[in-house]
Amino acid sequence: MLEKVKGFSADRVIEEFEALTKDAERVQRETLFRILHDNREAEYLQNLGLRGRIDPHSFKSCVPLVTHKELETYIQRIADGDSYPILTGKPITSISLSSGTTQGKPKFVPFNDELVHSTMQIYKTSFAFRNRAYPLRSGKALQFIYSSKQFKTKGGLTATTATTNVYRSEQFKRTMMDIHSLCCSPDEVIFSPDFHQSLYCHLLCGLIFSEEVQIVFSTFAHSIVHAFRTFENVWEELCFDIKEGVLSSRIMIPTIRAAVSRLLRPNPQLADTIYNKCVGLSSWYGVIPALWPNAKYVYGIMTGSMEPYLNKLRHYAGSLPLMSADYGSSEGWIGANIDPELPPESASFTVLPNIGYFEFIPLKEKGDLMEQNSDLLSNQREQEPIGLTEVKVGEEYEIIITSFAGLYRYRLGDVVRVAGFHNSTPKLQFIRRKSLILTINIDKNTEKDLQLAIEEADKLLAAEKLEILDYTSHVDMSTDPGHYVIFLELSGEAREEVLSSCCDCLDLAFVDAGYVGSRKVRAISPLELRVLKRGTFHKIMDHYLTLGGAMSQYKTPRCVALSNGKVLQILNSNVLKSFFSAAYN
Ligand code: AMP
Repeated sequence: MLEKVKGFSADRVIEEFEALTKDAERVQRETLFRILHDNREAEYLQNLGLRGRIDPHSFKSCVPLVTHKELETYIQRIADGDSYPILTGKPITSISLSSGTTQGKPKFVPFNDELVHSTMQIYKTSFAFRNRAYPLRSGKALQFIYSSKQFKTKGGLTATTATTNVYRSEQFKRTMMDIHSLCCSPDEVIFSPDFHQSLYCHLLCGLIFSEEVQIVFSTFAHSIVHAFRTFENVWEELCFDIKEGVLSSRIMIPTIRAAVSRLLRPNPQLADTIYNKCVGLSSWYGVIPALWPNAKYVYGIMTGSMEPYLNKLRHYAGSLPLMSADYGSSEGWIGANIDPELPPESASFTVLPNIGYFEFIPLKEKGDLMEQNSDLLSNQREQEPIGLTEVKVGEEYEIIITSFAGLYRYRLGDVVRVAGFHNSTPKLQFIRRKSLILTINIDKNTEKDLQLAIEEADKLLAAEKLEILDYTSHVDMSTDPGHYVIFLELSGEAREEVLSSCCDCLDLAFVDAGYVGSRKVRAISPLELRVLKRGTFHKIMDHYLTLGGAMSQYKTPRCVALSNGKVLQILNSNVLKSFFSAAYN
């Protein structure tokens, strides 16, 4: 039996989910009706000649597929305070800033209560399924969550990251209580203006409540890995704070000091227990279950660009299961992970058919990707989008969303594969971001291709007991012809021969025919490996955080364009050594 807690029933959530997914086609039609009806006054829809029609056919024939670029001026007018119904019938209440790691700067995205509502629905749905597999009692969660800076737009709307907009909402805490995931740390820690001080306090509060913690969580897995890498450096200081009952002087923000100090009492016994457990660990393997003995699992998004952190996360999690969290974006949620027992590598996301209207552009071959990078060609060759219930198992699609927050037929930029169906709604696997990141002429490489190449190099380095801490790439056109540059930050010093073979290995690991052909005829110069000083990726992360990004949504940029001058400068000024591939000599 699932536990029932004050008004929240996991059984009921599952029942509702089953009903929605059994009749996904009807629910999708009704959802589109609702979106178009609620927003029939919106200037955007009026201008497209929809004139109040709310059927899928009129919608598809009048409303074009768009990217963020086409909506920028509308969103800017909302941010500037134009109160006219521009994209939505009801006014937009705040602006979300997307993580911006892909484009180099955050995008403005409309946010409203409907998005809070669907966020809670997703949280509750995946929790209900998780709780069947790993039931929780009332307790707490060690949540590495962080707000971002907030500012007012010209029109007086609050602009901040989508996660911060959710944490600010009234429903957030209530839902966290319902799903036994209340954060150990006080709000002052979550809403701190300084990420480093927040992280230290999250760790400290987690240790203070170590017996009560049942979940270790962050939105994206990278934050958990980052938290425990930090823990390796600060654990003695944390023990000291607990022993003395006095907060470290590194916490300087008065509100955080006051809030955390209220939780801290001298507790030499707890400090000694933590100290002894840490000393007894080998290379920090299993630190999470050692220090949080009642934790049932580690939870966060572990798919897509988070996969490279899985090894390290497994190392810290030891015997605890890793559970990949749901699929969504600042623009809106898509699906929940309802198979918590599957390893993150196999995770899929079951689309909730009532939280948006979803369409899918079939992608038959990788060549389609190239065409979609060129607007002209994509208009000529692209296949028609199909509906949620029309997708086929095993096929890949670009996902298009229509939301309750003013986005209509919006290209999210993600590629998904249909892993199967739950009732009549598909289960999607995240495959990659759609855009090509490495391309010089006829070569086409995505973020996923880069990840596979890095995995090959990782094998060579693992044999030397070295770890790739993080990586990124760049297309360097300053040579003629241009070449790929791969930046690696390693856990230790590697021998020159190892790095040199690592460079060749990376070059050979890009197996795309366009790349191989171009390398053979020297239409692309040899790949360059640049090895970075320790801490370079922290500097890059700090740079994004100062731009207004939030650690909760941070994703390492996997390719840095020439236009992203500051990040490129951080990378280039931290290069220890560089190597050119001899693979095609
Ligand atoms: P943001 O700009 O921070 O809103 O990030 C949204 C993007 O993060 C999505 O478009 C995806 O590319 C990625 N993302 C979100 N959830 C997942 C997931 N469960 N698995 C893989 N990638 C995800």
